[in-house]
Amino acid sequence: MDILISEVGPRDGLQSIKNIMPLAAKKAWIDAEAAAGVTEIEVGSFVPAKLLPQLADTAEVVRHARSIPGLTVAVLVPNLKGAQAAVEAGAHKITIPLSASETHSLKNVRRTHAQMLEETRGIVALLRGLPKEQRPKFEGGLSTAFGCTLEGDVPADRIVQLAEQLMEAGCDEVGLSDTTGYANPLQVKMLVKRVRAAVGEHALTGLHLHNTRGLGLANVLAGLEVGITTFDASLGGLGGCPFAPGASGNIVTEDLVFMLEAMGLRTGIDIGKLLKVRDILRAALPDDELYGFTPDAGLPLGFKPATLAAPRTQVA
Ligand code: ZN
Repeated sequence: MDILISEVGPRDGLQSIKNIMPLAAKKAWIDAEAAAGVTEIEVGSFVPAKLLPQLADTAEVVRHARSIPGLTVAVLVPNLKGAQAAVEAGAHKITIPLSASETHSLKNVRRTHAQMLEETRGIVALLRGLPKEQRPKFEGGLSTAFGCTLEGDVPADRIVQLAEQLMEAGCDEVGLSDTTGYANPLQVKMLVKRVRAAVGEHALTGLHLHNTRGLGLANVLAGLEVGITTFDASLGGLGGCPFAPGASGNIVTEDLVFMLEAMGLRTGIDIGKLLKVRDILRAALPDDELYGFTPDAGLPLGFKPATLAAPRTQVA
């Protein structure tokens, strides 16, 4: 596999819509994506059910997803308590979001940067107390890294500093999130380079991009050009954007897989099977819009996806 696609629809997509997807449909969705070749799925978030009733069954979803061989089960946790629940359920990867905009952080998790870093250190202590084989990978996700709806511009210097602080606190890696869909390709390249120069190439491998202003795939391409190898995406772009009608939320997994495979980059995902997974979403959430150009237009005549043209086993 050349590029890892991390499906975040069951977390980012579902938390952004009002309707609650039944547990059985979540399981079927995750099963079907894994069967299509998706190897990492962010299946939920350990937040109080009264804040996000859509994700109240995350522990059960994690336990189910863990039964799928080869699948990395990722979750989001806002604090130590969430991390404890994630460990108990058996998540393979946990991400704590640290909003680069302190105003956003206070509004979102009611904590300052200093408090979030303290929370991060607490989680590191928890994880280091576990036997190595039970220790989930721990990522610090820098949200609003490309701009904030409350503060506007977020200085790159601050992102670099927070990335360093997350690594010092003991995170295994950091990620950059365009929570607000403000990023442009030049900014993506600049920020990736600056953060990597500060924390090292291996400490920043992934981007979480939104398509709020239609620049999602352009930003992916920019990320590819500076060596990023992991991209988050959501099937059907589920979640949309309340501020931009017609715009998907996260970048659309189907379109991302199409772009990468057409460019000769192997995602390990069978795009034909992936396109059929939309039926599960459509049946479970009939009132929510699904996005994506490739699903509507279909695959080009004679399209040869890189994954099927050159399976990993045939490459030295
Ligand atoms: Zn997001």
